[in-house]
Amino acid sequence: MEKEHYFLKAKYIIVWDGEKHCQLENGYLEVQDTQIVAFHQNVPKGAPYEDLGNAAILPGFINLHCHPSEVYGGRSYKEDQGNPNFYDSTMYDYAGLVSAGKESALIQAKLNLAEILKSGCATVLIFGGPESELEAQTAEEIGIRAYVGWGIRAGDAKEEISIWDSQDGHSLTFSFDEKSGMERLEEAVAFAKNLEGSPGGRVKGLLAPTQTMTCTEEMLRQTRKAADKHGIGITIHGSEDFIEFETSIRQRGKTPVEVMHESGLLGEDLIIAHCCCVTGHSQINMRGRDLLLLGQAGVTVAHCPMVLAREGDTLETFERYSQVGINMGIGTDTFPSDFIQEARMAAIMGKITGRSTFATSARDIFYAATVNGAHALGRNDLGKLAPGCKADFSVIKLDNMEMTPVRDVVKSLIYSATRHSVDRVYVDGRCIVRDGKVKGIDEADLSGQLQELFEAGWKKAKEKGWQRKEIDALSPLSCPKI
Ligand SMILES: [Zn+2]
Repeated sequence: MEKEHYFLKAKYIIVWDGEKHCQLENGYLEVQDTQIVAFHQNVPKGAPYEDLGNAAILPGFINLHCHPSEVYGGRSYKEDQGNPNFYDSTMYDYAGLVSAGKESALIQAKLNLAEILKSGCATVLIFGGPESELEAQTAEEIGIRAYVGWGIRAGDAKEEISIWDSQDGHSLTFSFDEKSGMERLEEAVAFAKNLEGSPGGRVKGLLAPTQTMTCTEEMLRQTRKAADKHGIGITIHGSEDFIEFETSIRQRGKTPVEVMHESGLLGEDLIIAHCCCVTGHSQINMRGRDLLLLGQAGVTVAHCPMVLAREGDTLETFERYSQVGINMGIGTDTFPSDFIQEARMAAIMGKITGRSTFATSARDIFYAATVNGAHALGRNDLGKLAPGCKADFSVIKLDNMEMTPVRDVVKSLIYSATRHSVDRVYVDGRCIVRDGKVKGIDEADLSGQLQELFEAGWKKAKEKGWQRKEIDALSPLSCPKI
């Protein structure tokens, strides 16, 4: 097959000069096949080029945490709800009550990956779980670059039986099946090895212990050994909320971070989702060395500010984490999966918790969304536009009310843009989002199917959980039915 070779001209291109992102004005990006060849101030004489006009070309964002096949279960239901006995969390006795069934997994995965692409992401870390294979296959078909975790937990593969359970709405019981957990680890290694042969190497695997409190310490130790032996990265939900912190202390006499440290899990190849409930957090009256341990190990935190903020929580602080040596990245986790909105939330929550406009900047967040994400995945060829890097980039329209006037592309993007400004996304040099639409995705049709499945699922909420309540009692409508 003949290699594709093309030049794109844009008013602004954010290029990498070997050390940092720089703003190239009225320049050209040269792409051959799947790679960036060069960027130019002037196009080589006689070379044809496409002039994108009043637009900016940016490195494709790297979304470090999401759950495509099950992401929409909480929408229009869990917001403004929570169990006060679990510090307002909806994770323990709300999540399992609504299901749109197995057949919704593919629809959700397609819609969610499209939603993520439409906000300028070229790479996504899919946490994975019972539908990891389906998620990997869907990512492959849509054309996004993906790292897909295989859930490792001390329980069944399909996660049909929860490891934690509450029969009364205030206490939690745990049933660990370590043998089954070790089987999950073996499957995870096989899954990642199998993906190594995927066409173009765009979809890869990760080991994904689901939480510190759904794995035994021995499982975490063996996960580290397997990661080192096979050169596979690891991702985990860690120090996610106050229940996890408290449970870890009660069960093990250690914080979740200490559990990860003592089992050897911490390392530069570890991506921890959330990681907000650590010693030194203003709502945890415990001194300790959590942040120090994380910084010394050079782990990455996938900061997902929206889902935490929606329940009144936040990480403290983006600046502090960065200062101790933690590599900060951004993830969308649940909904909305609008990466630009998530990035803005990270910038603003960073300022609020740091009590200063200088605590986080658009620059900090842009680096988190690009090169920090690439570093987390051990990739020197992602997150930046430089010769030899993958041709993963987005085209942002500037001729609209949300971006104009533009002097500093990154500031306008982080503080003002929405995903409606994202016109195109290229992965491996191939345009998979054009005119704001994801190739091969019929958004209206998929949304219609999903609505029907959830309407059926909401009706069954009363059959589940200790509450035995209708959906409208579990989550009263903001405006009651008339
Ligand atoms: Zn998550």
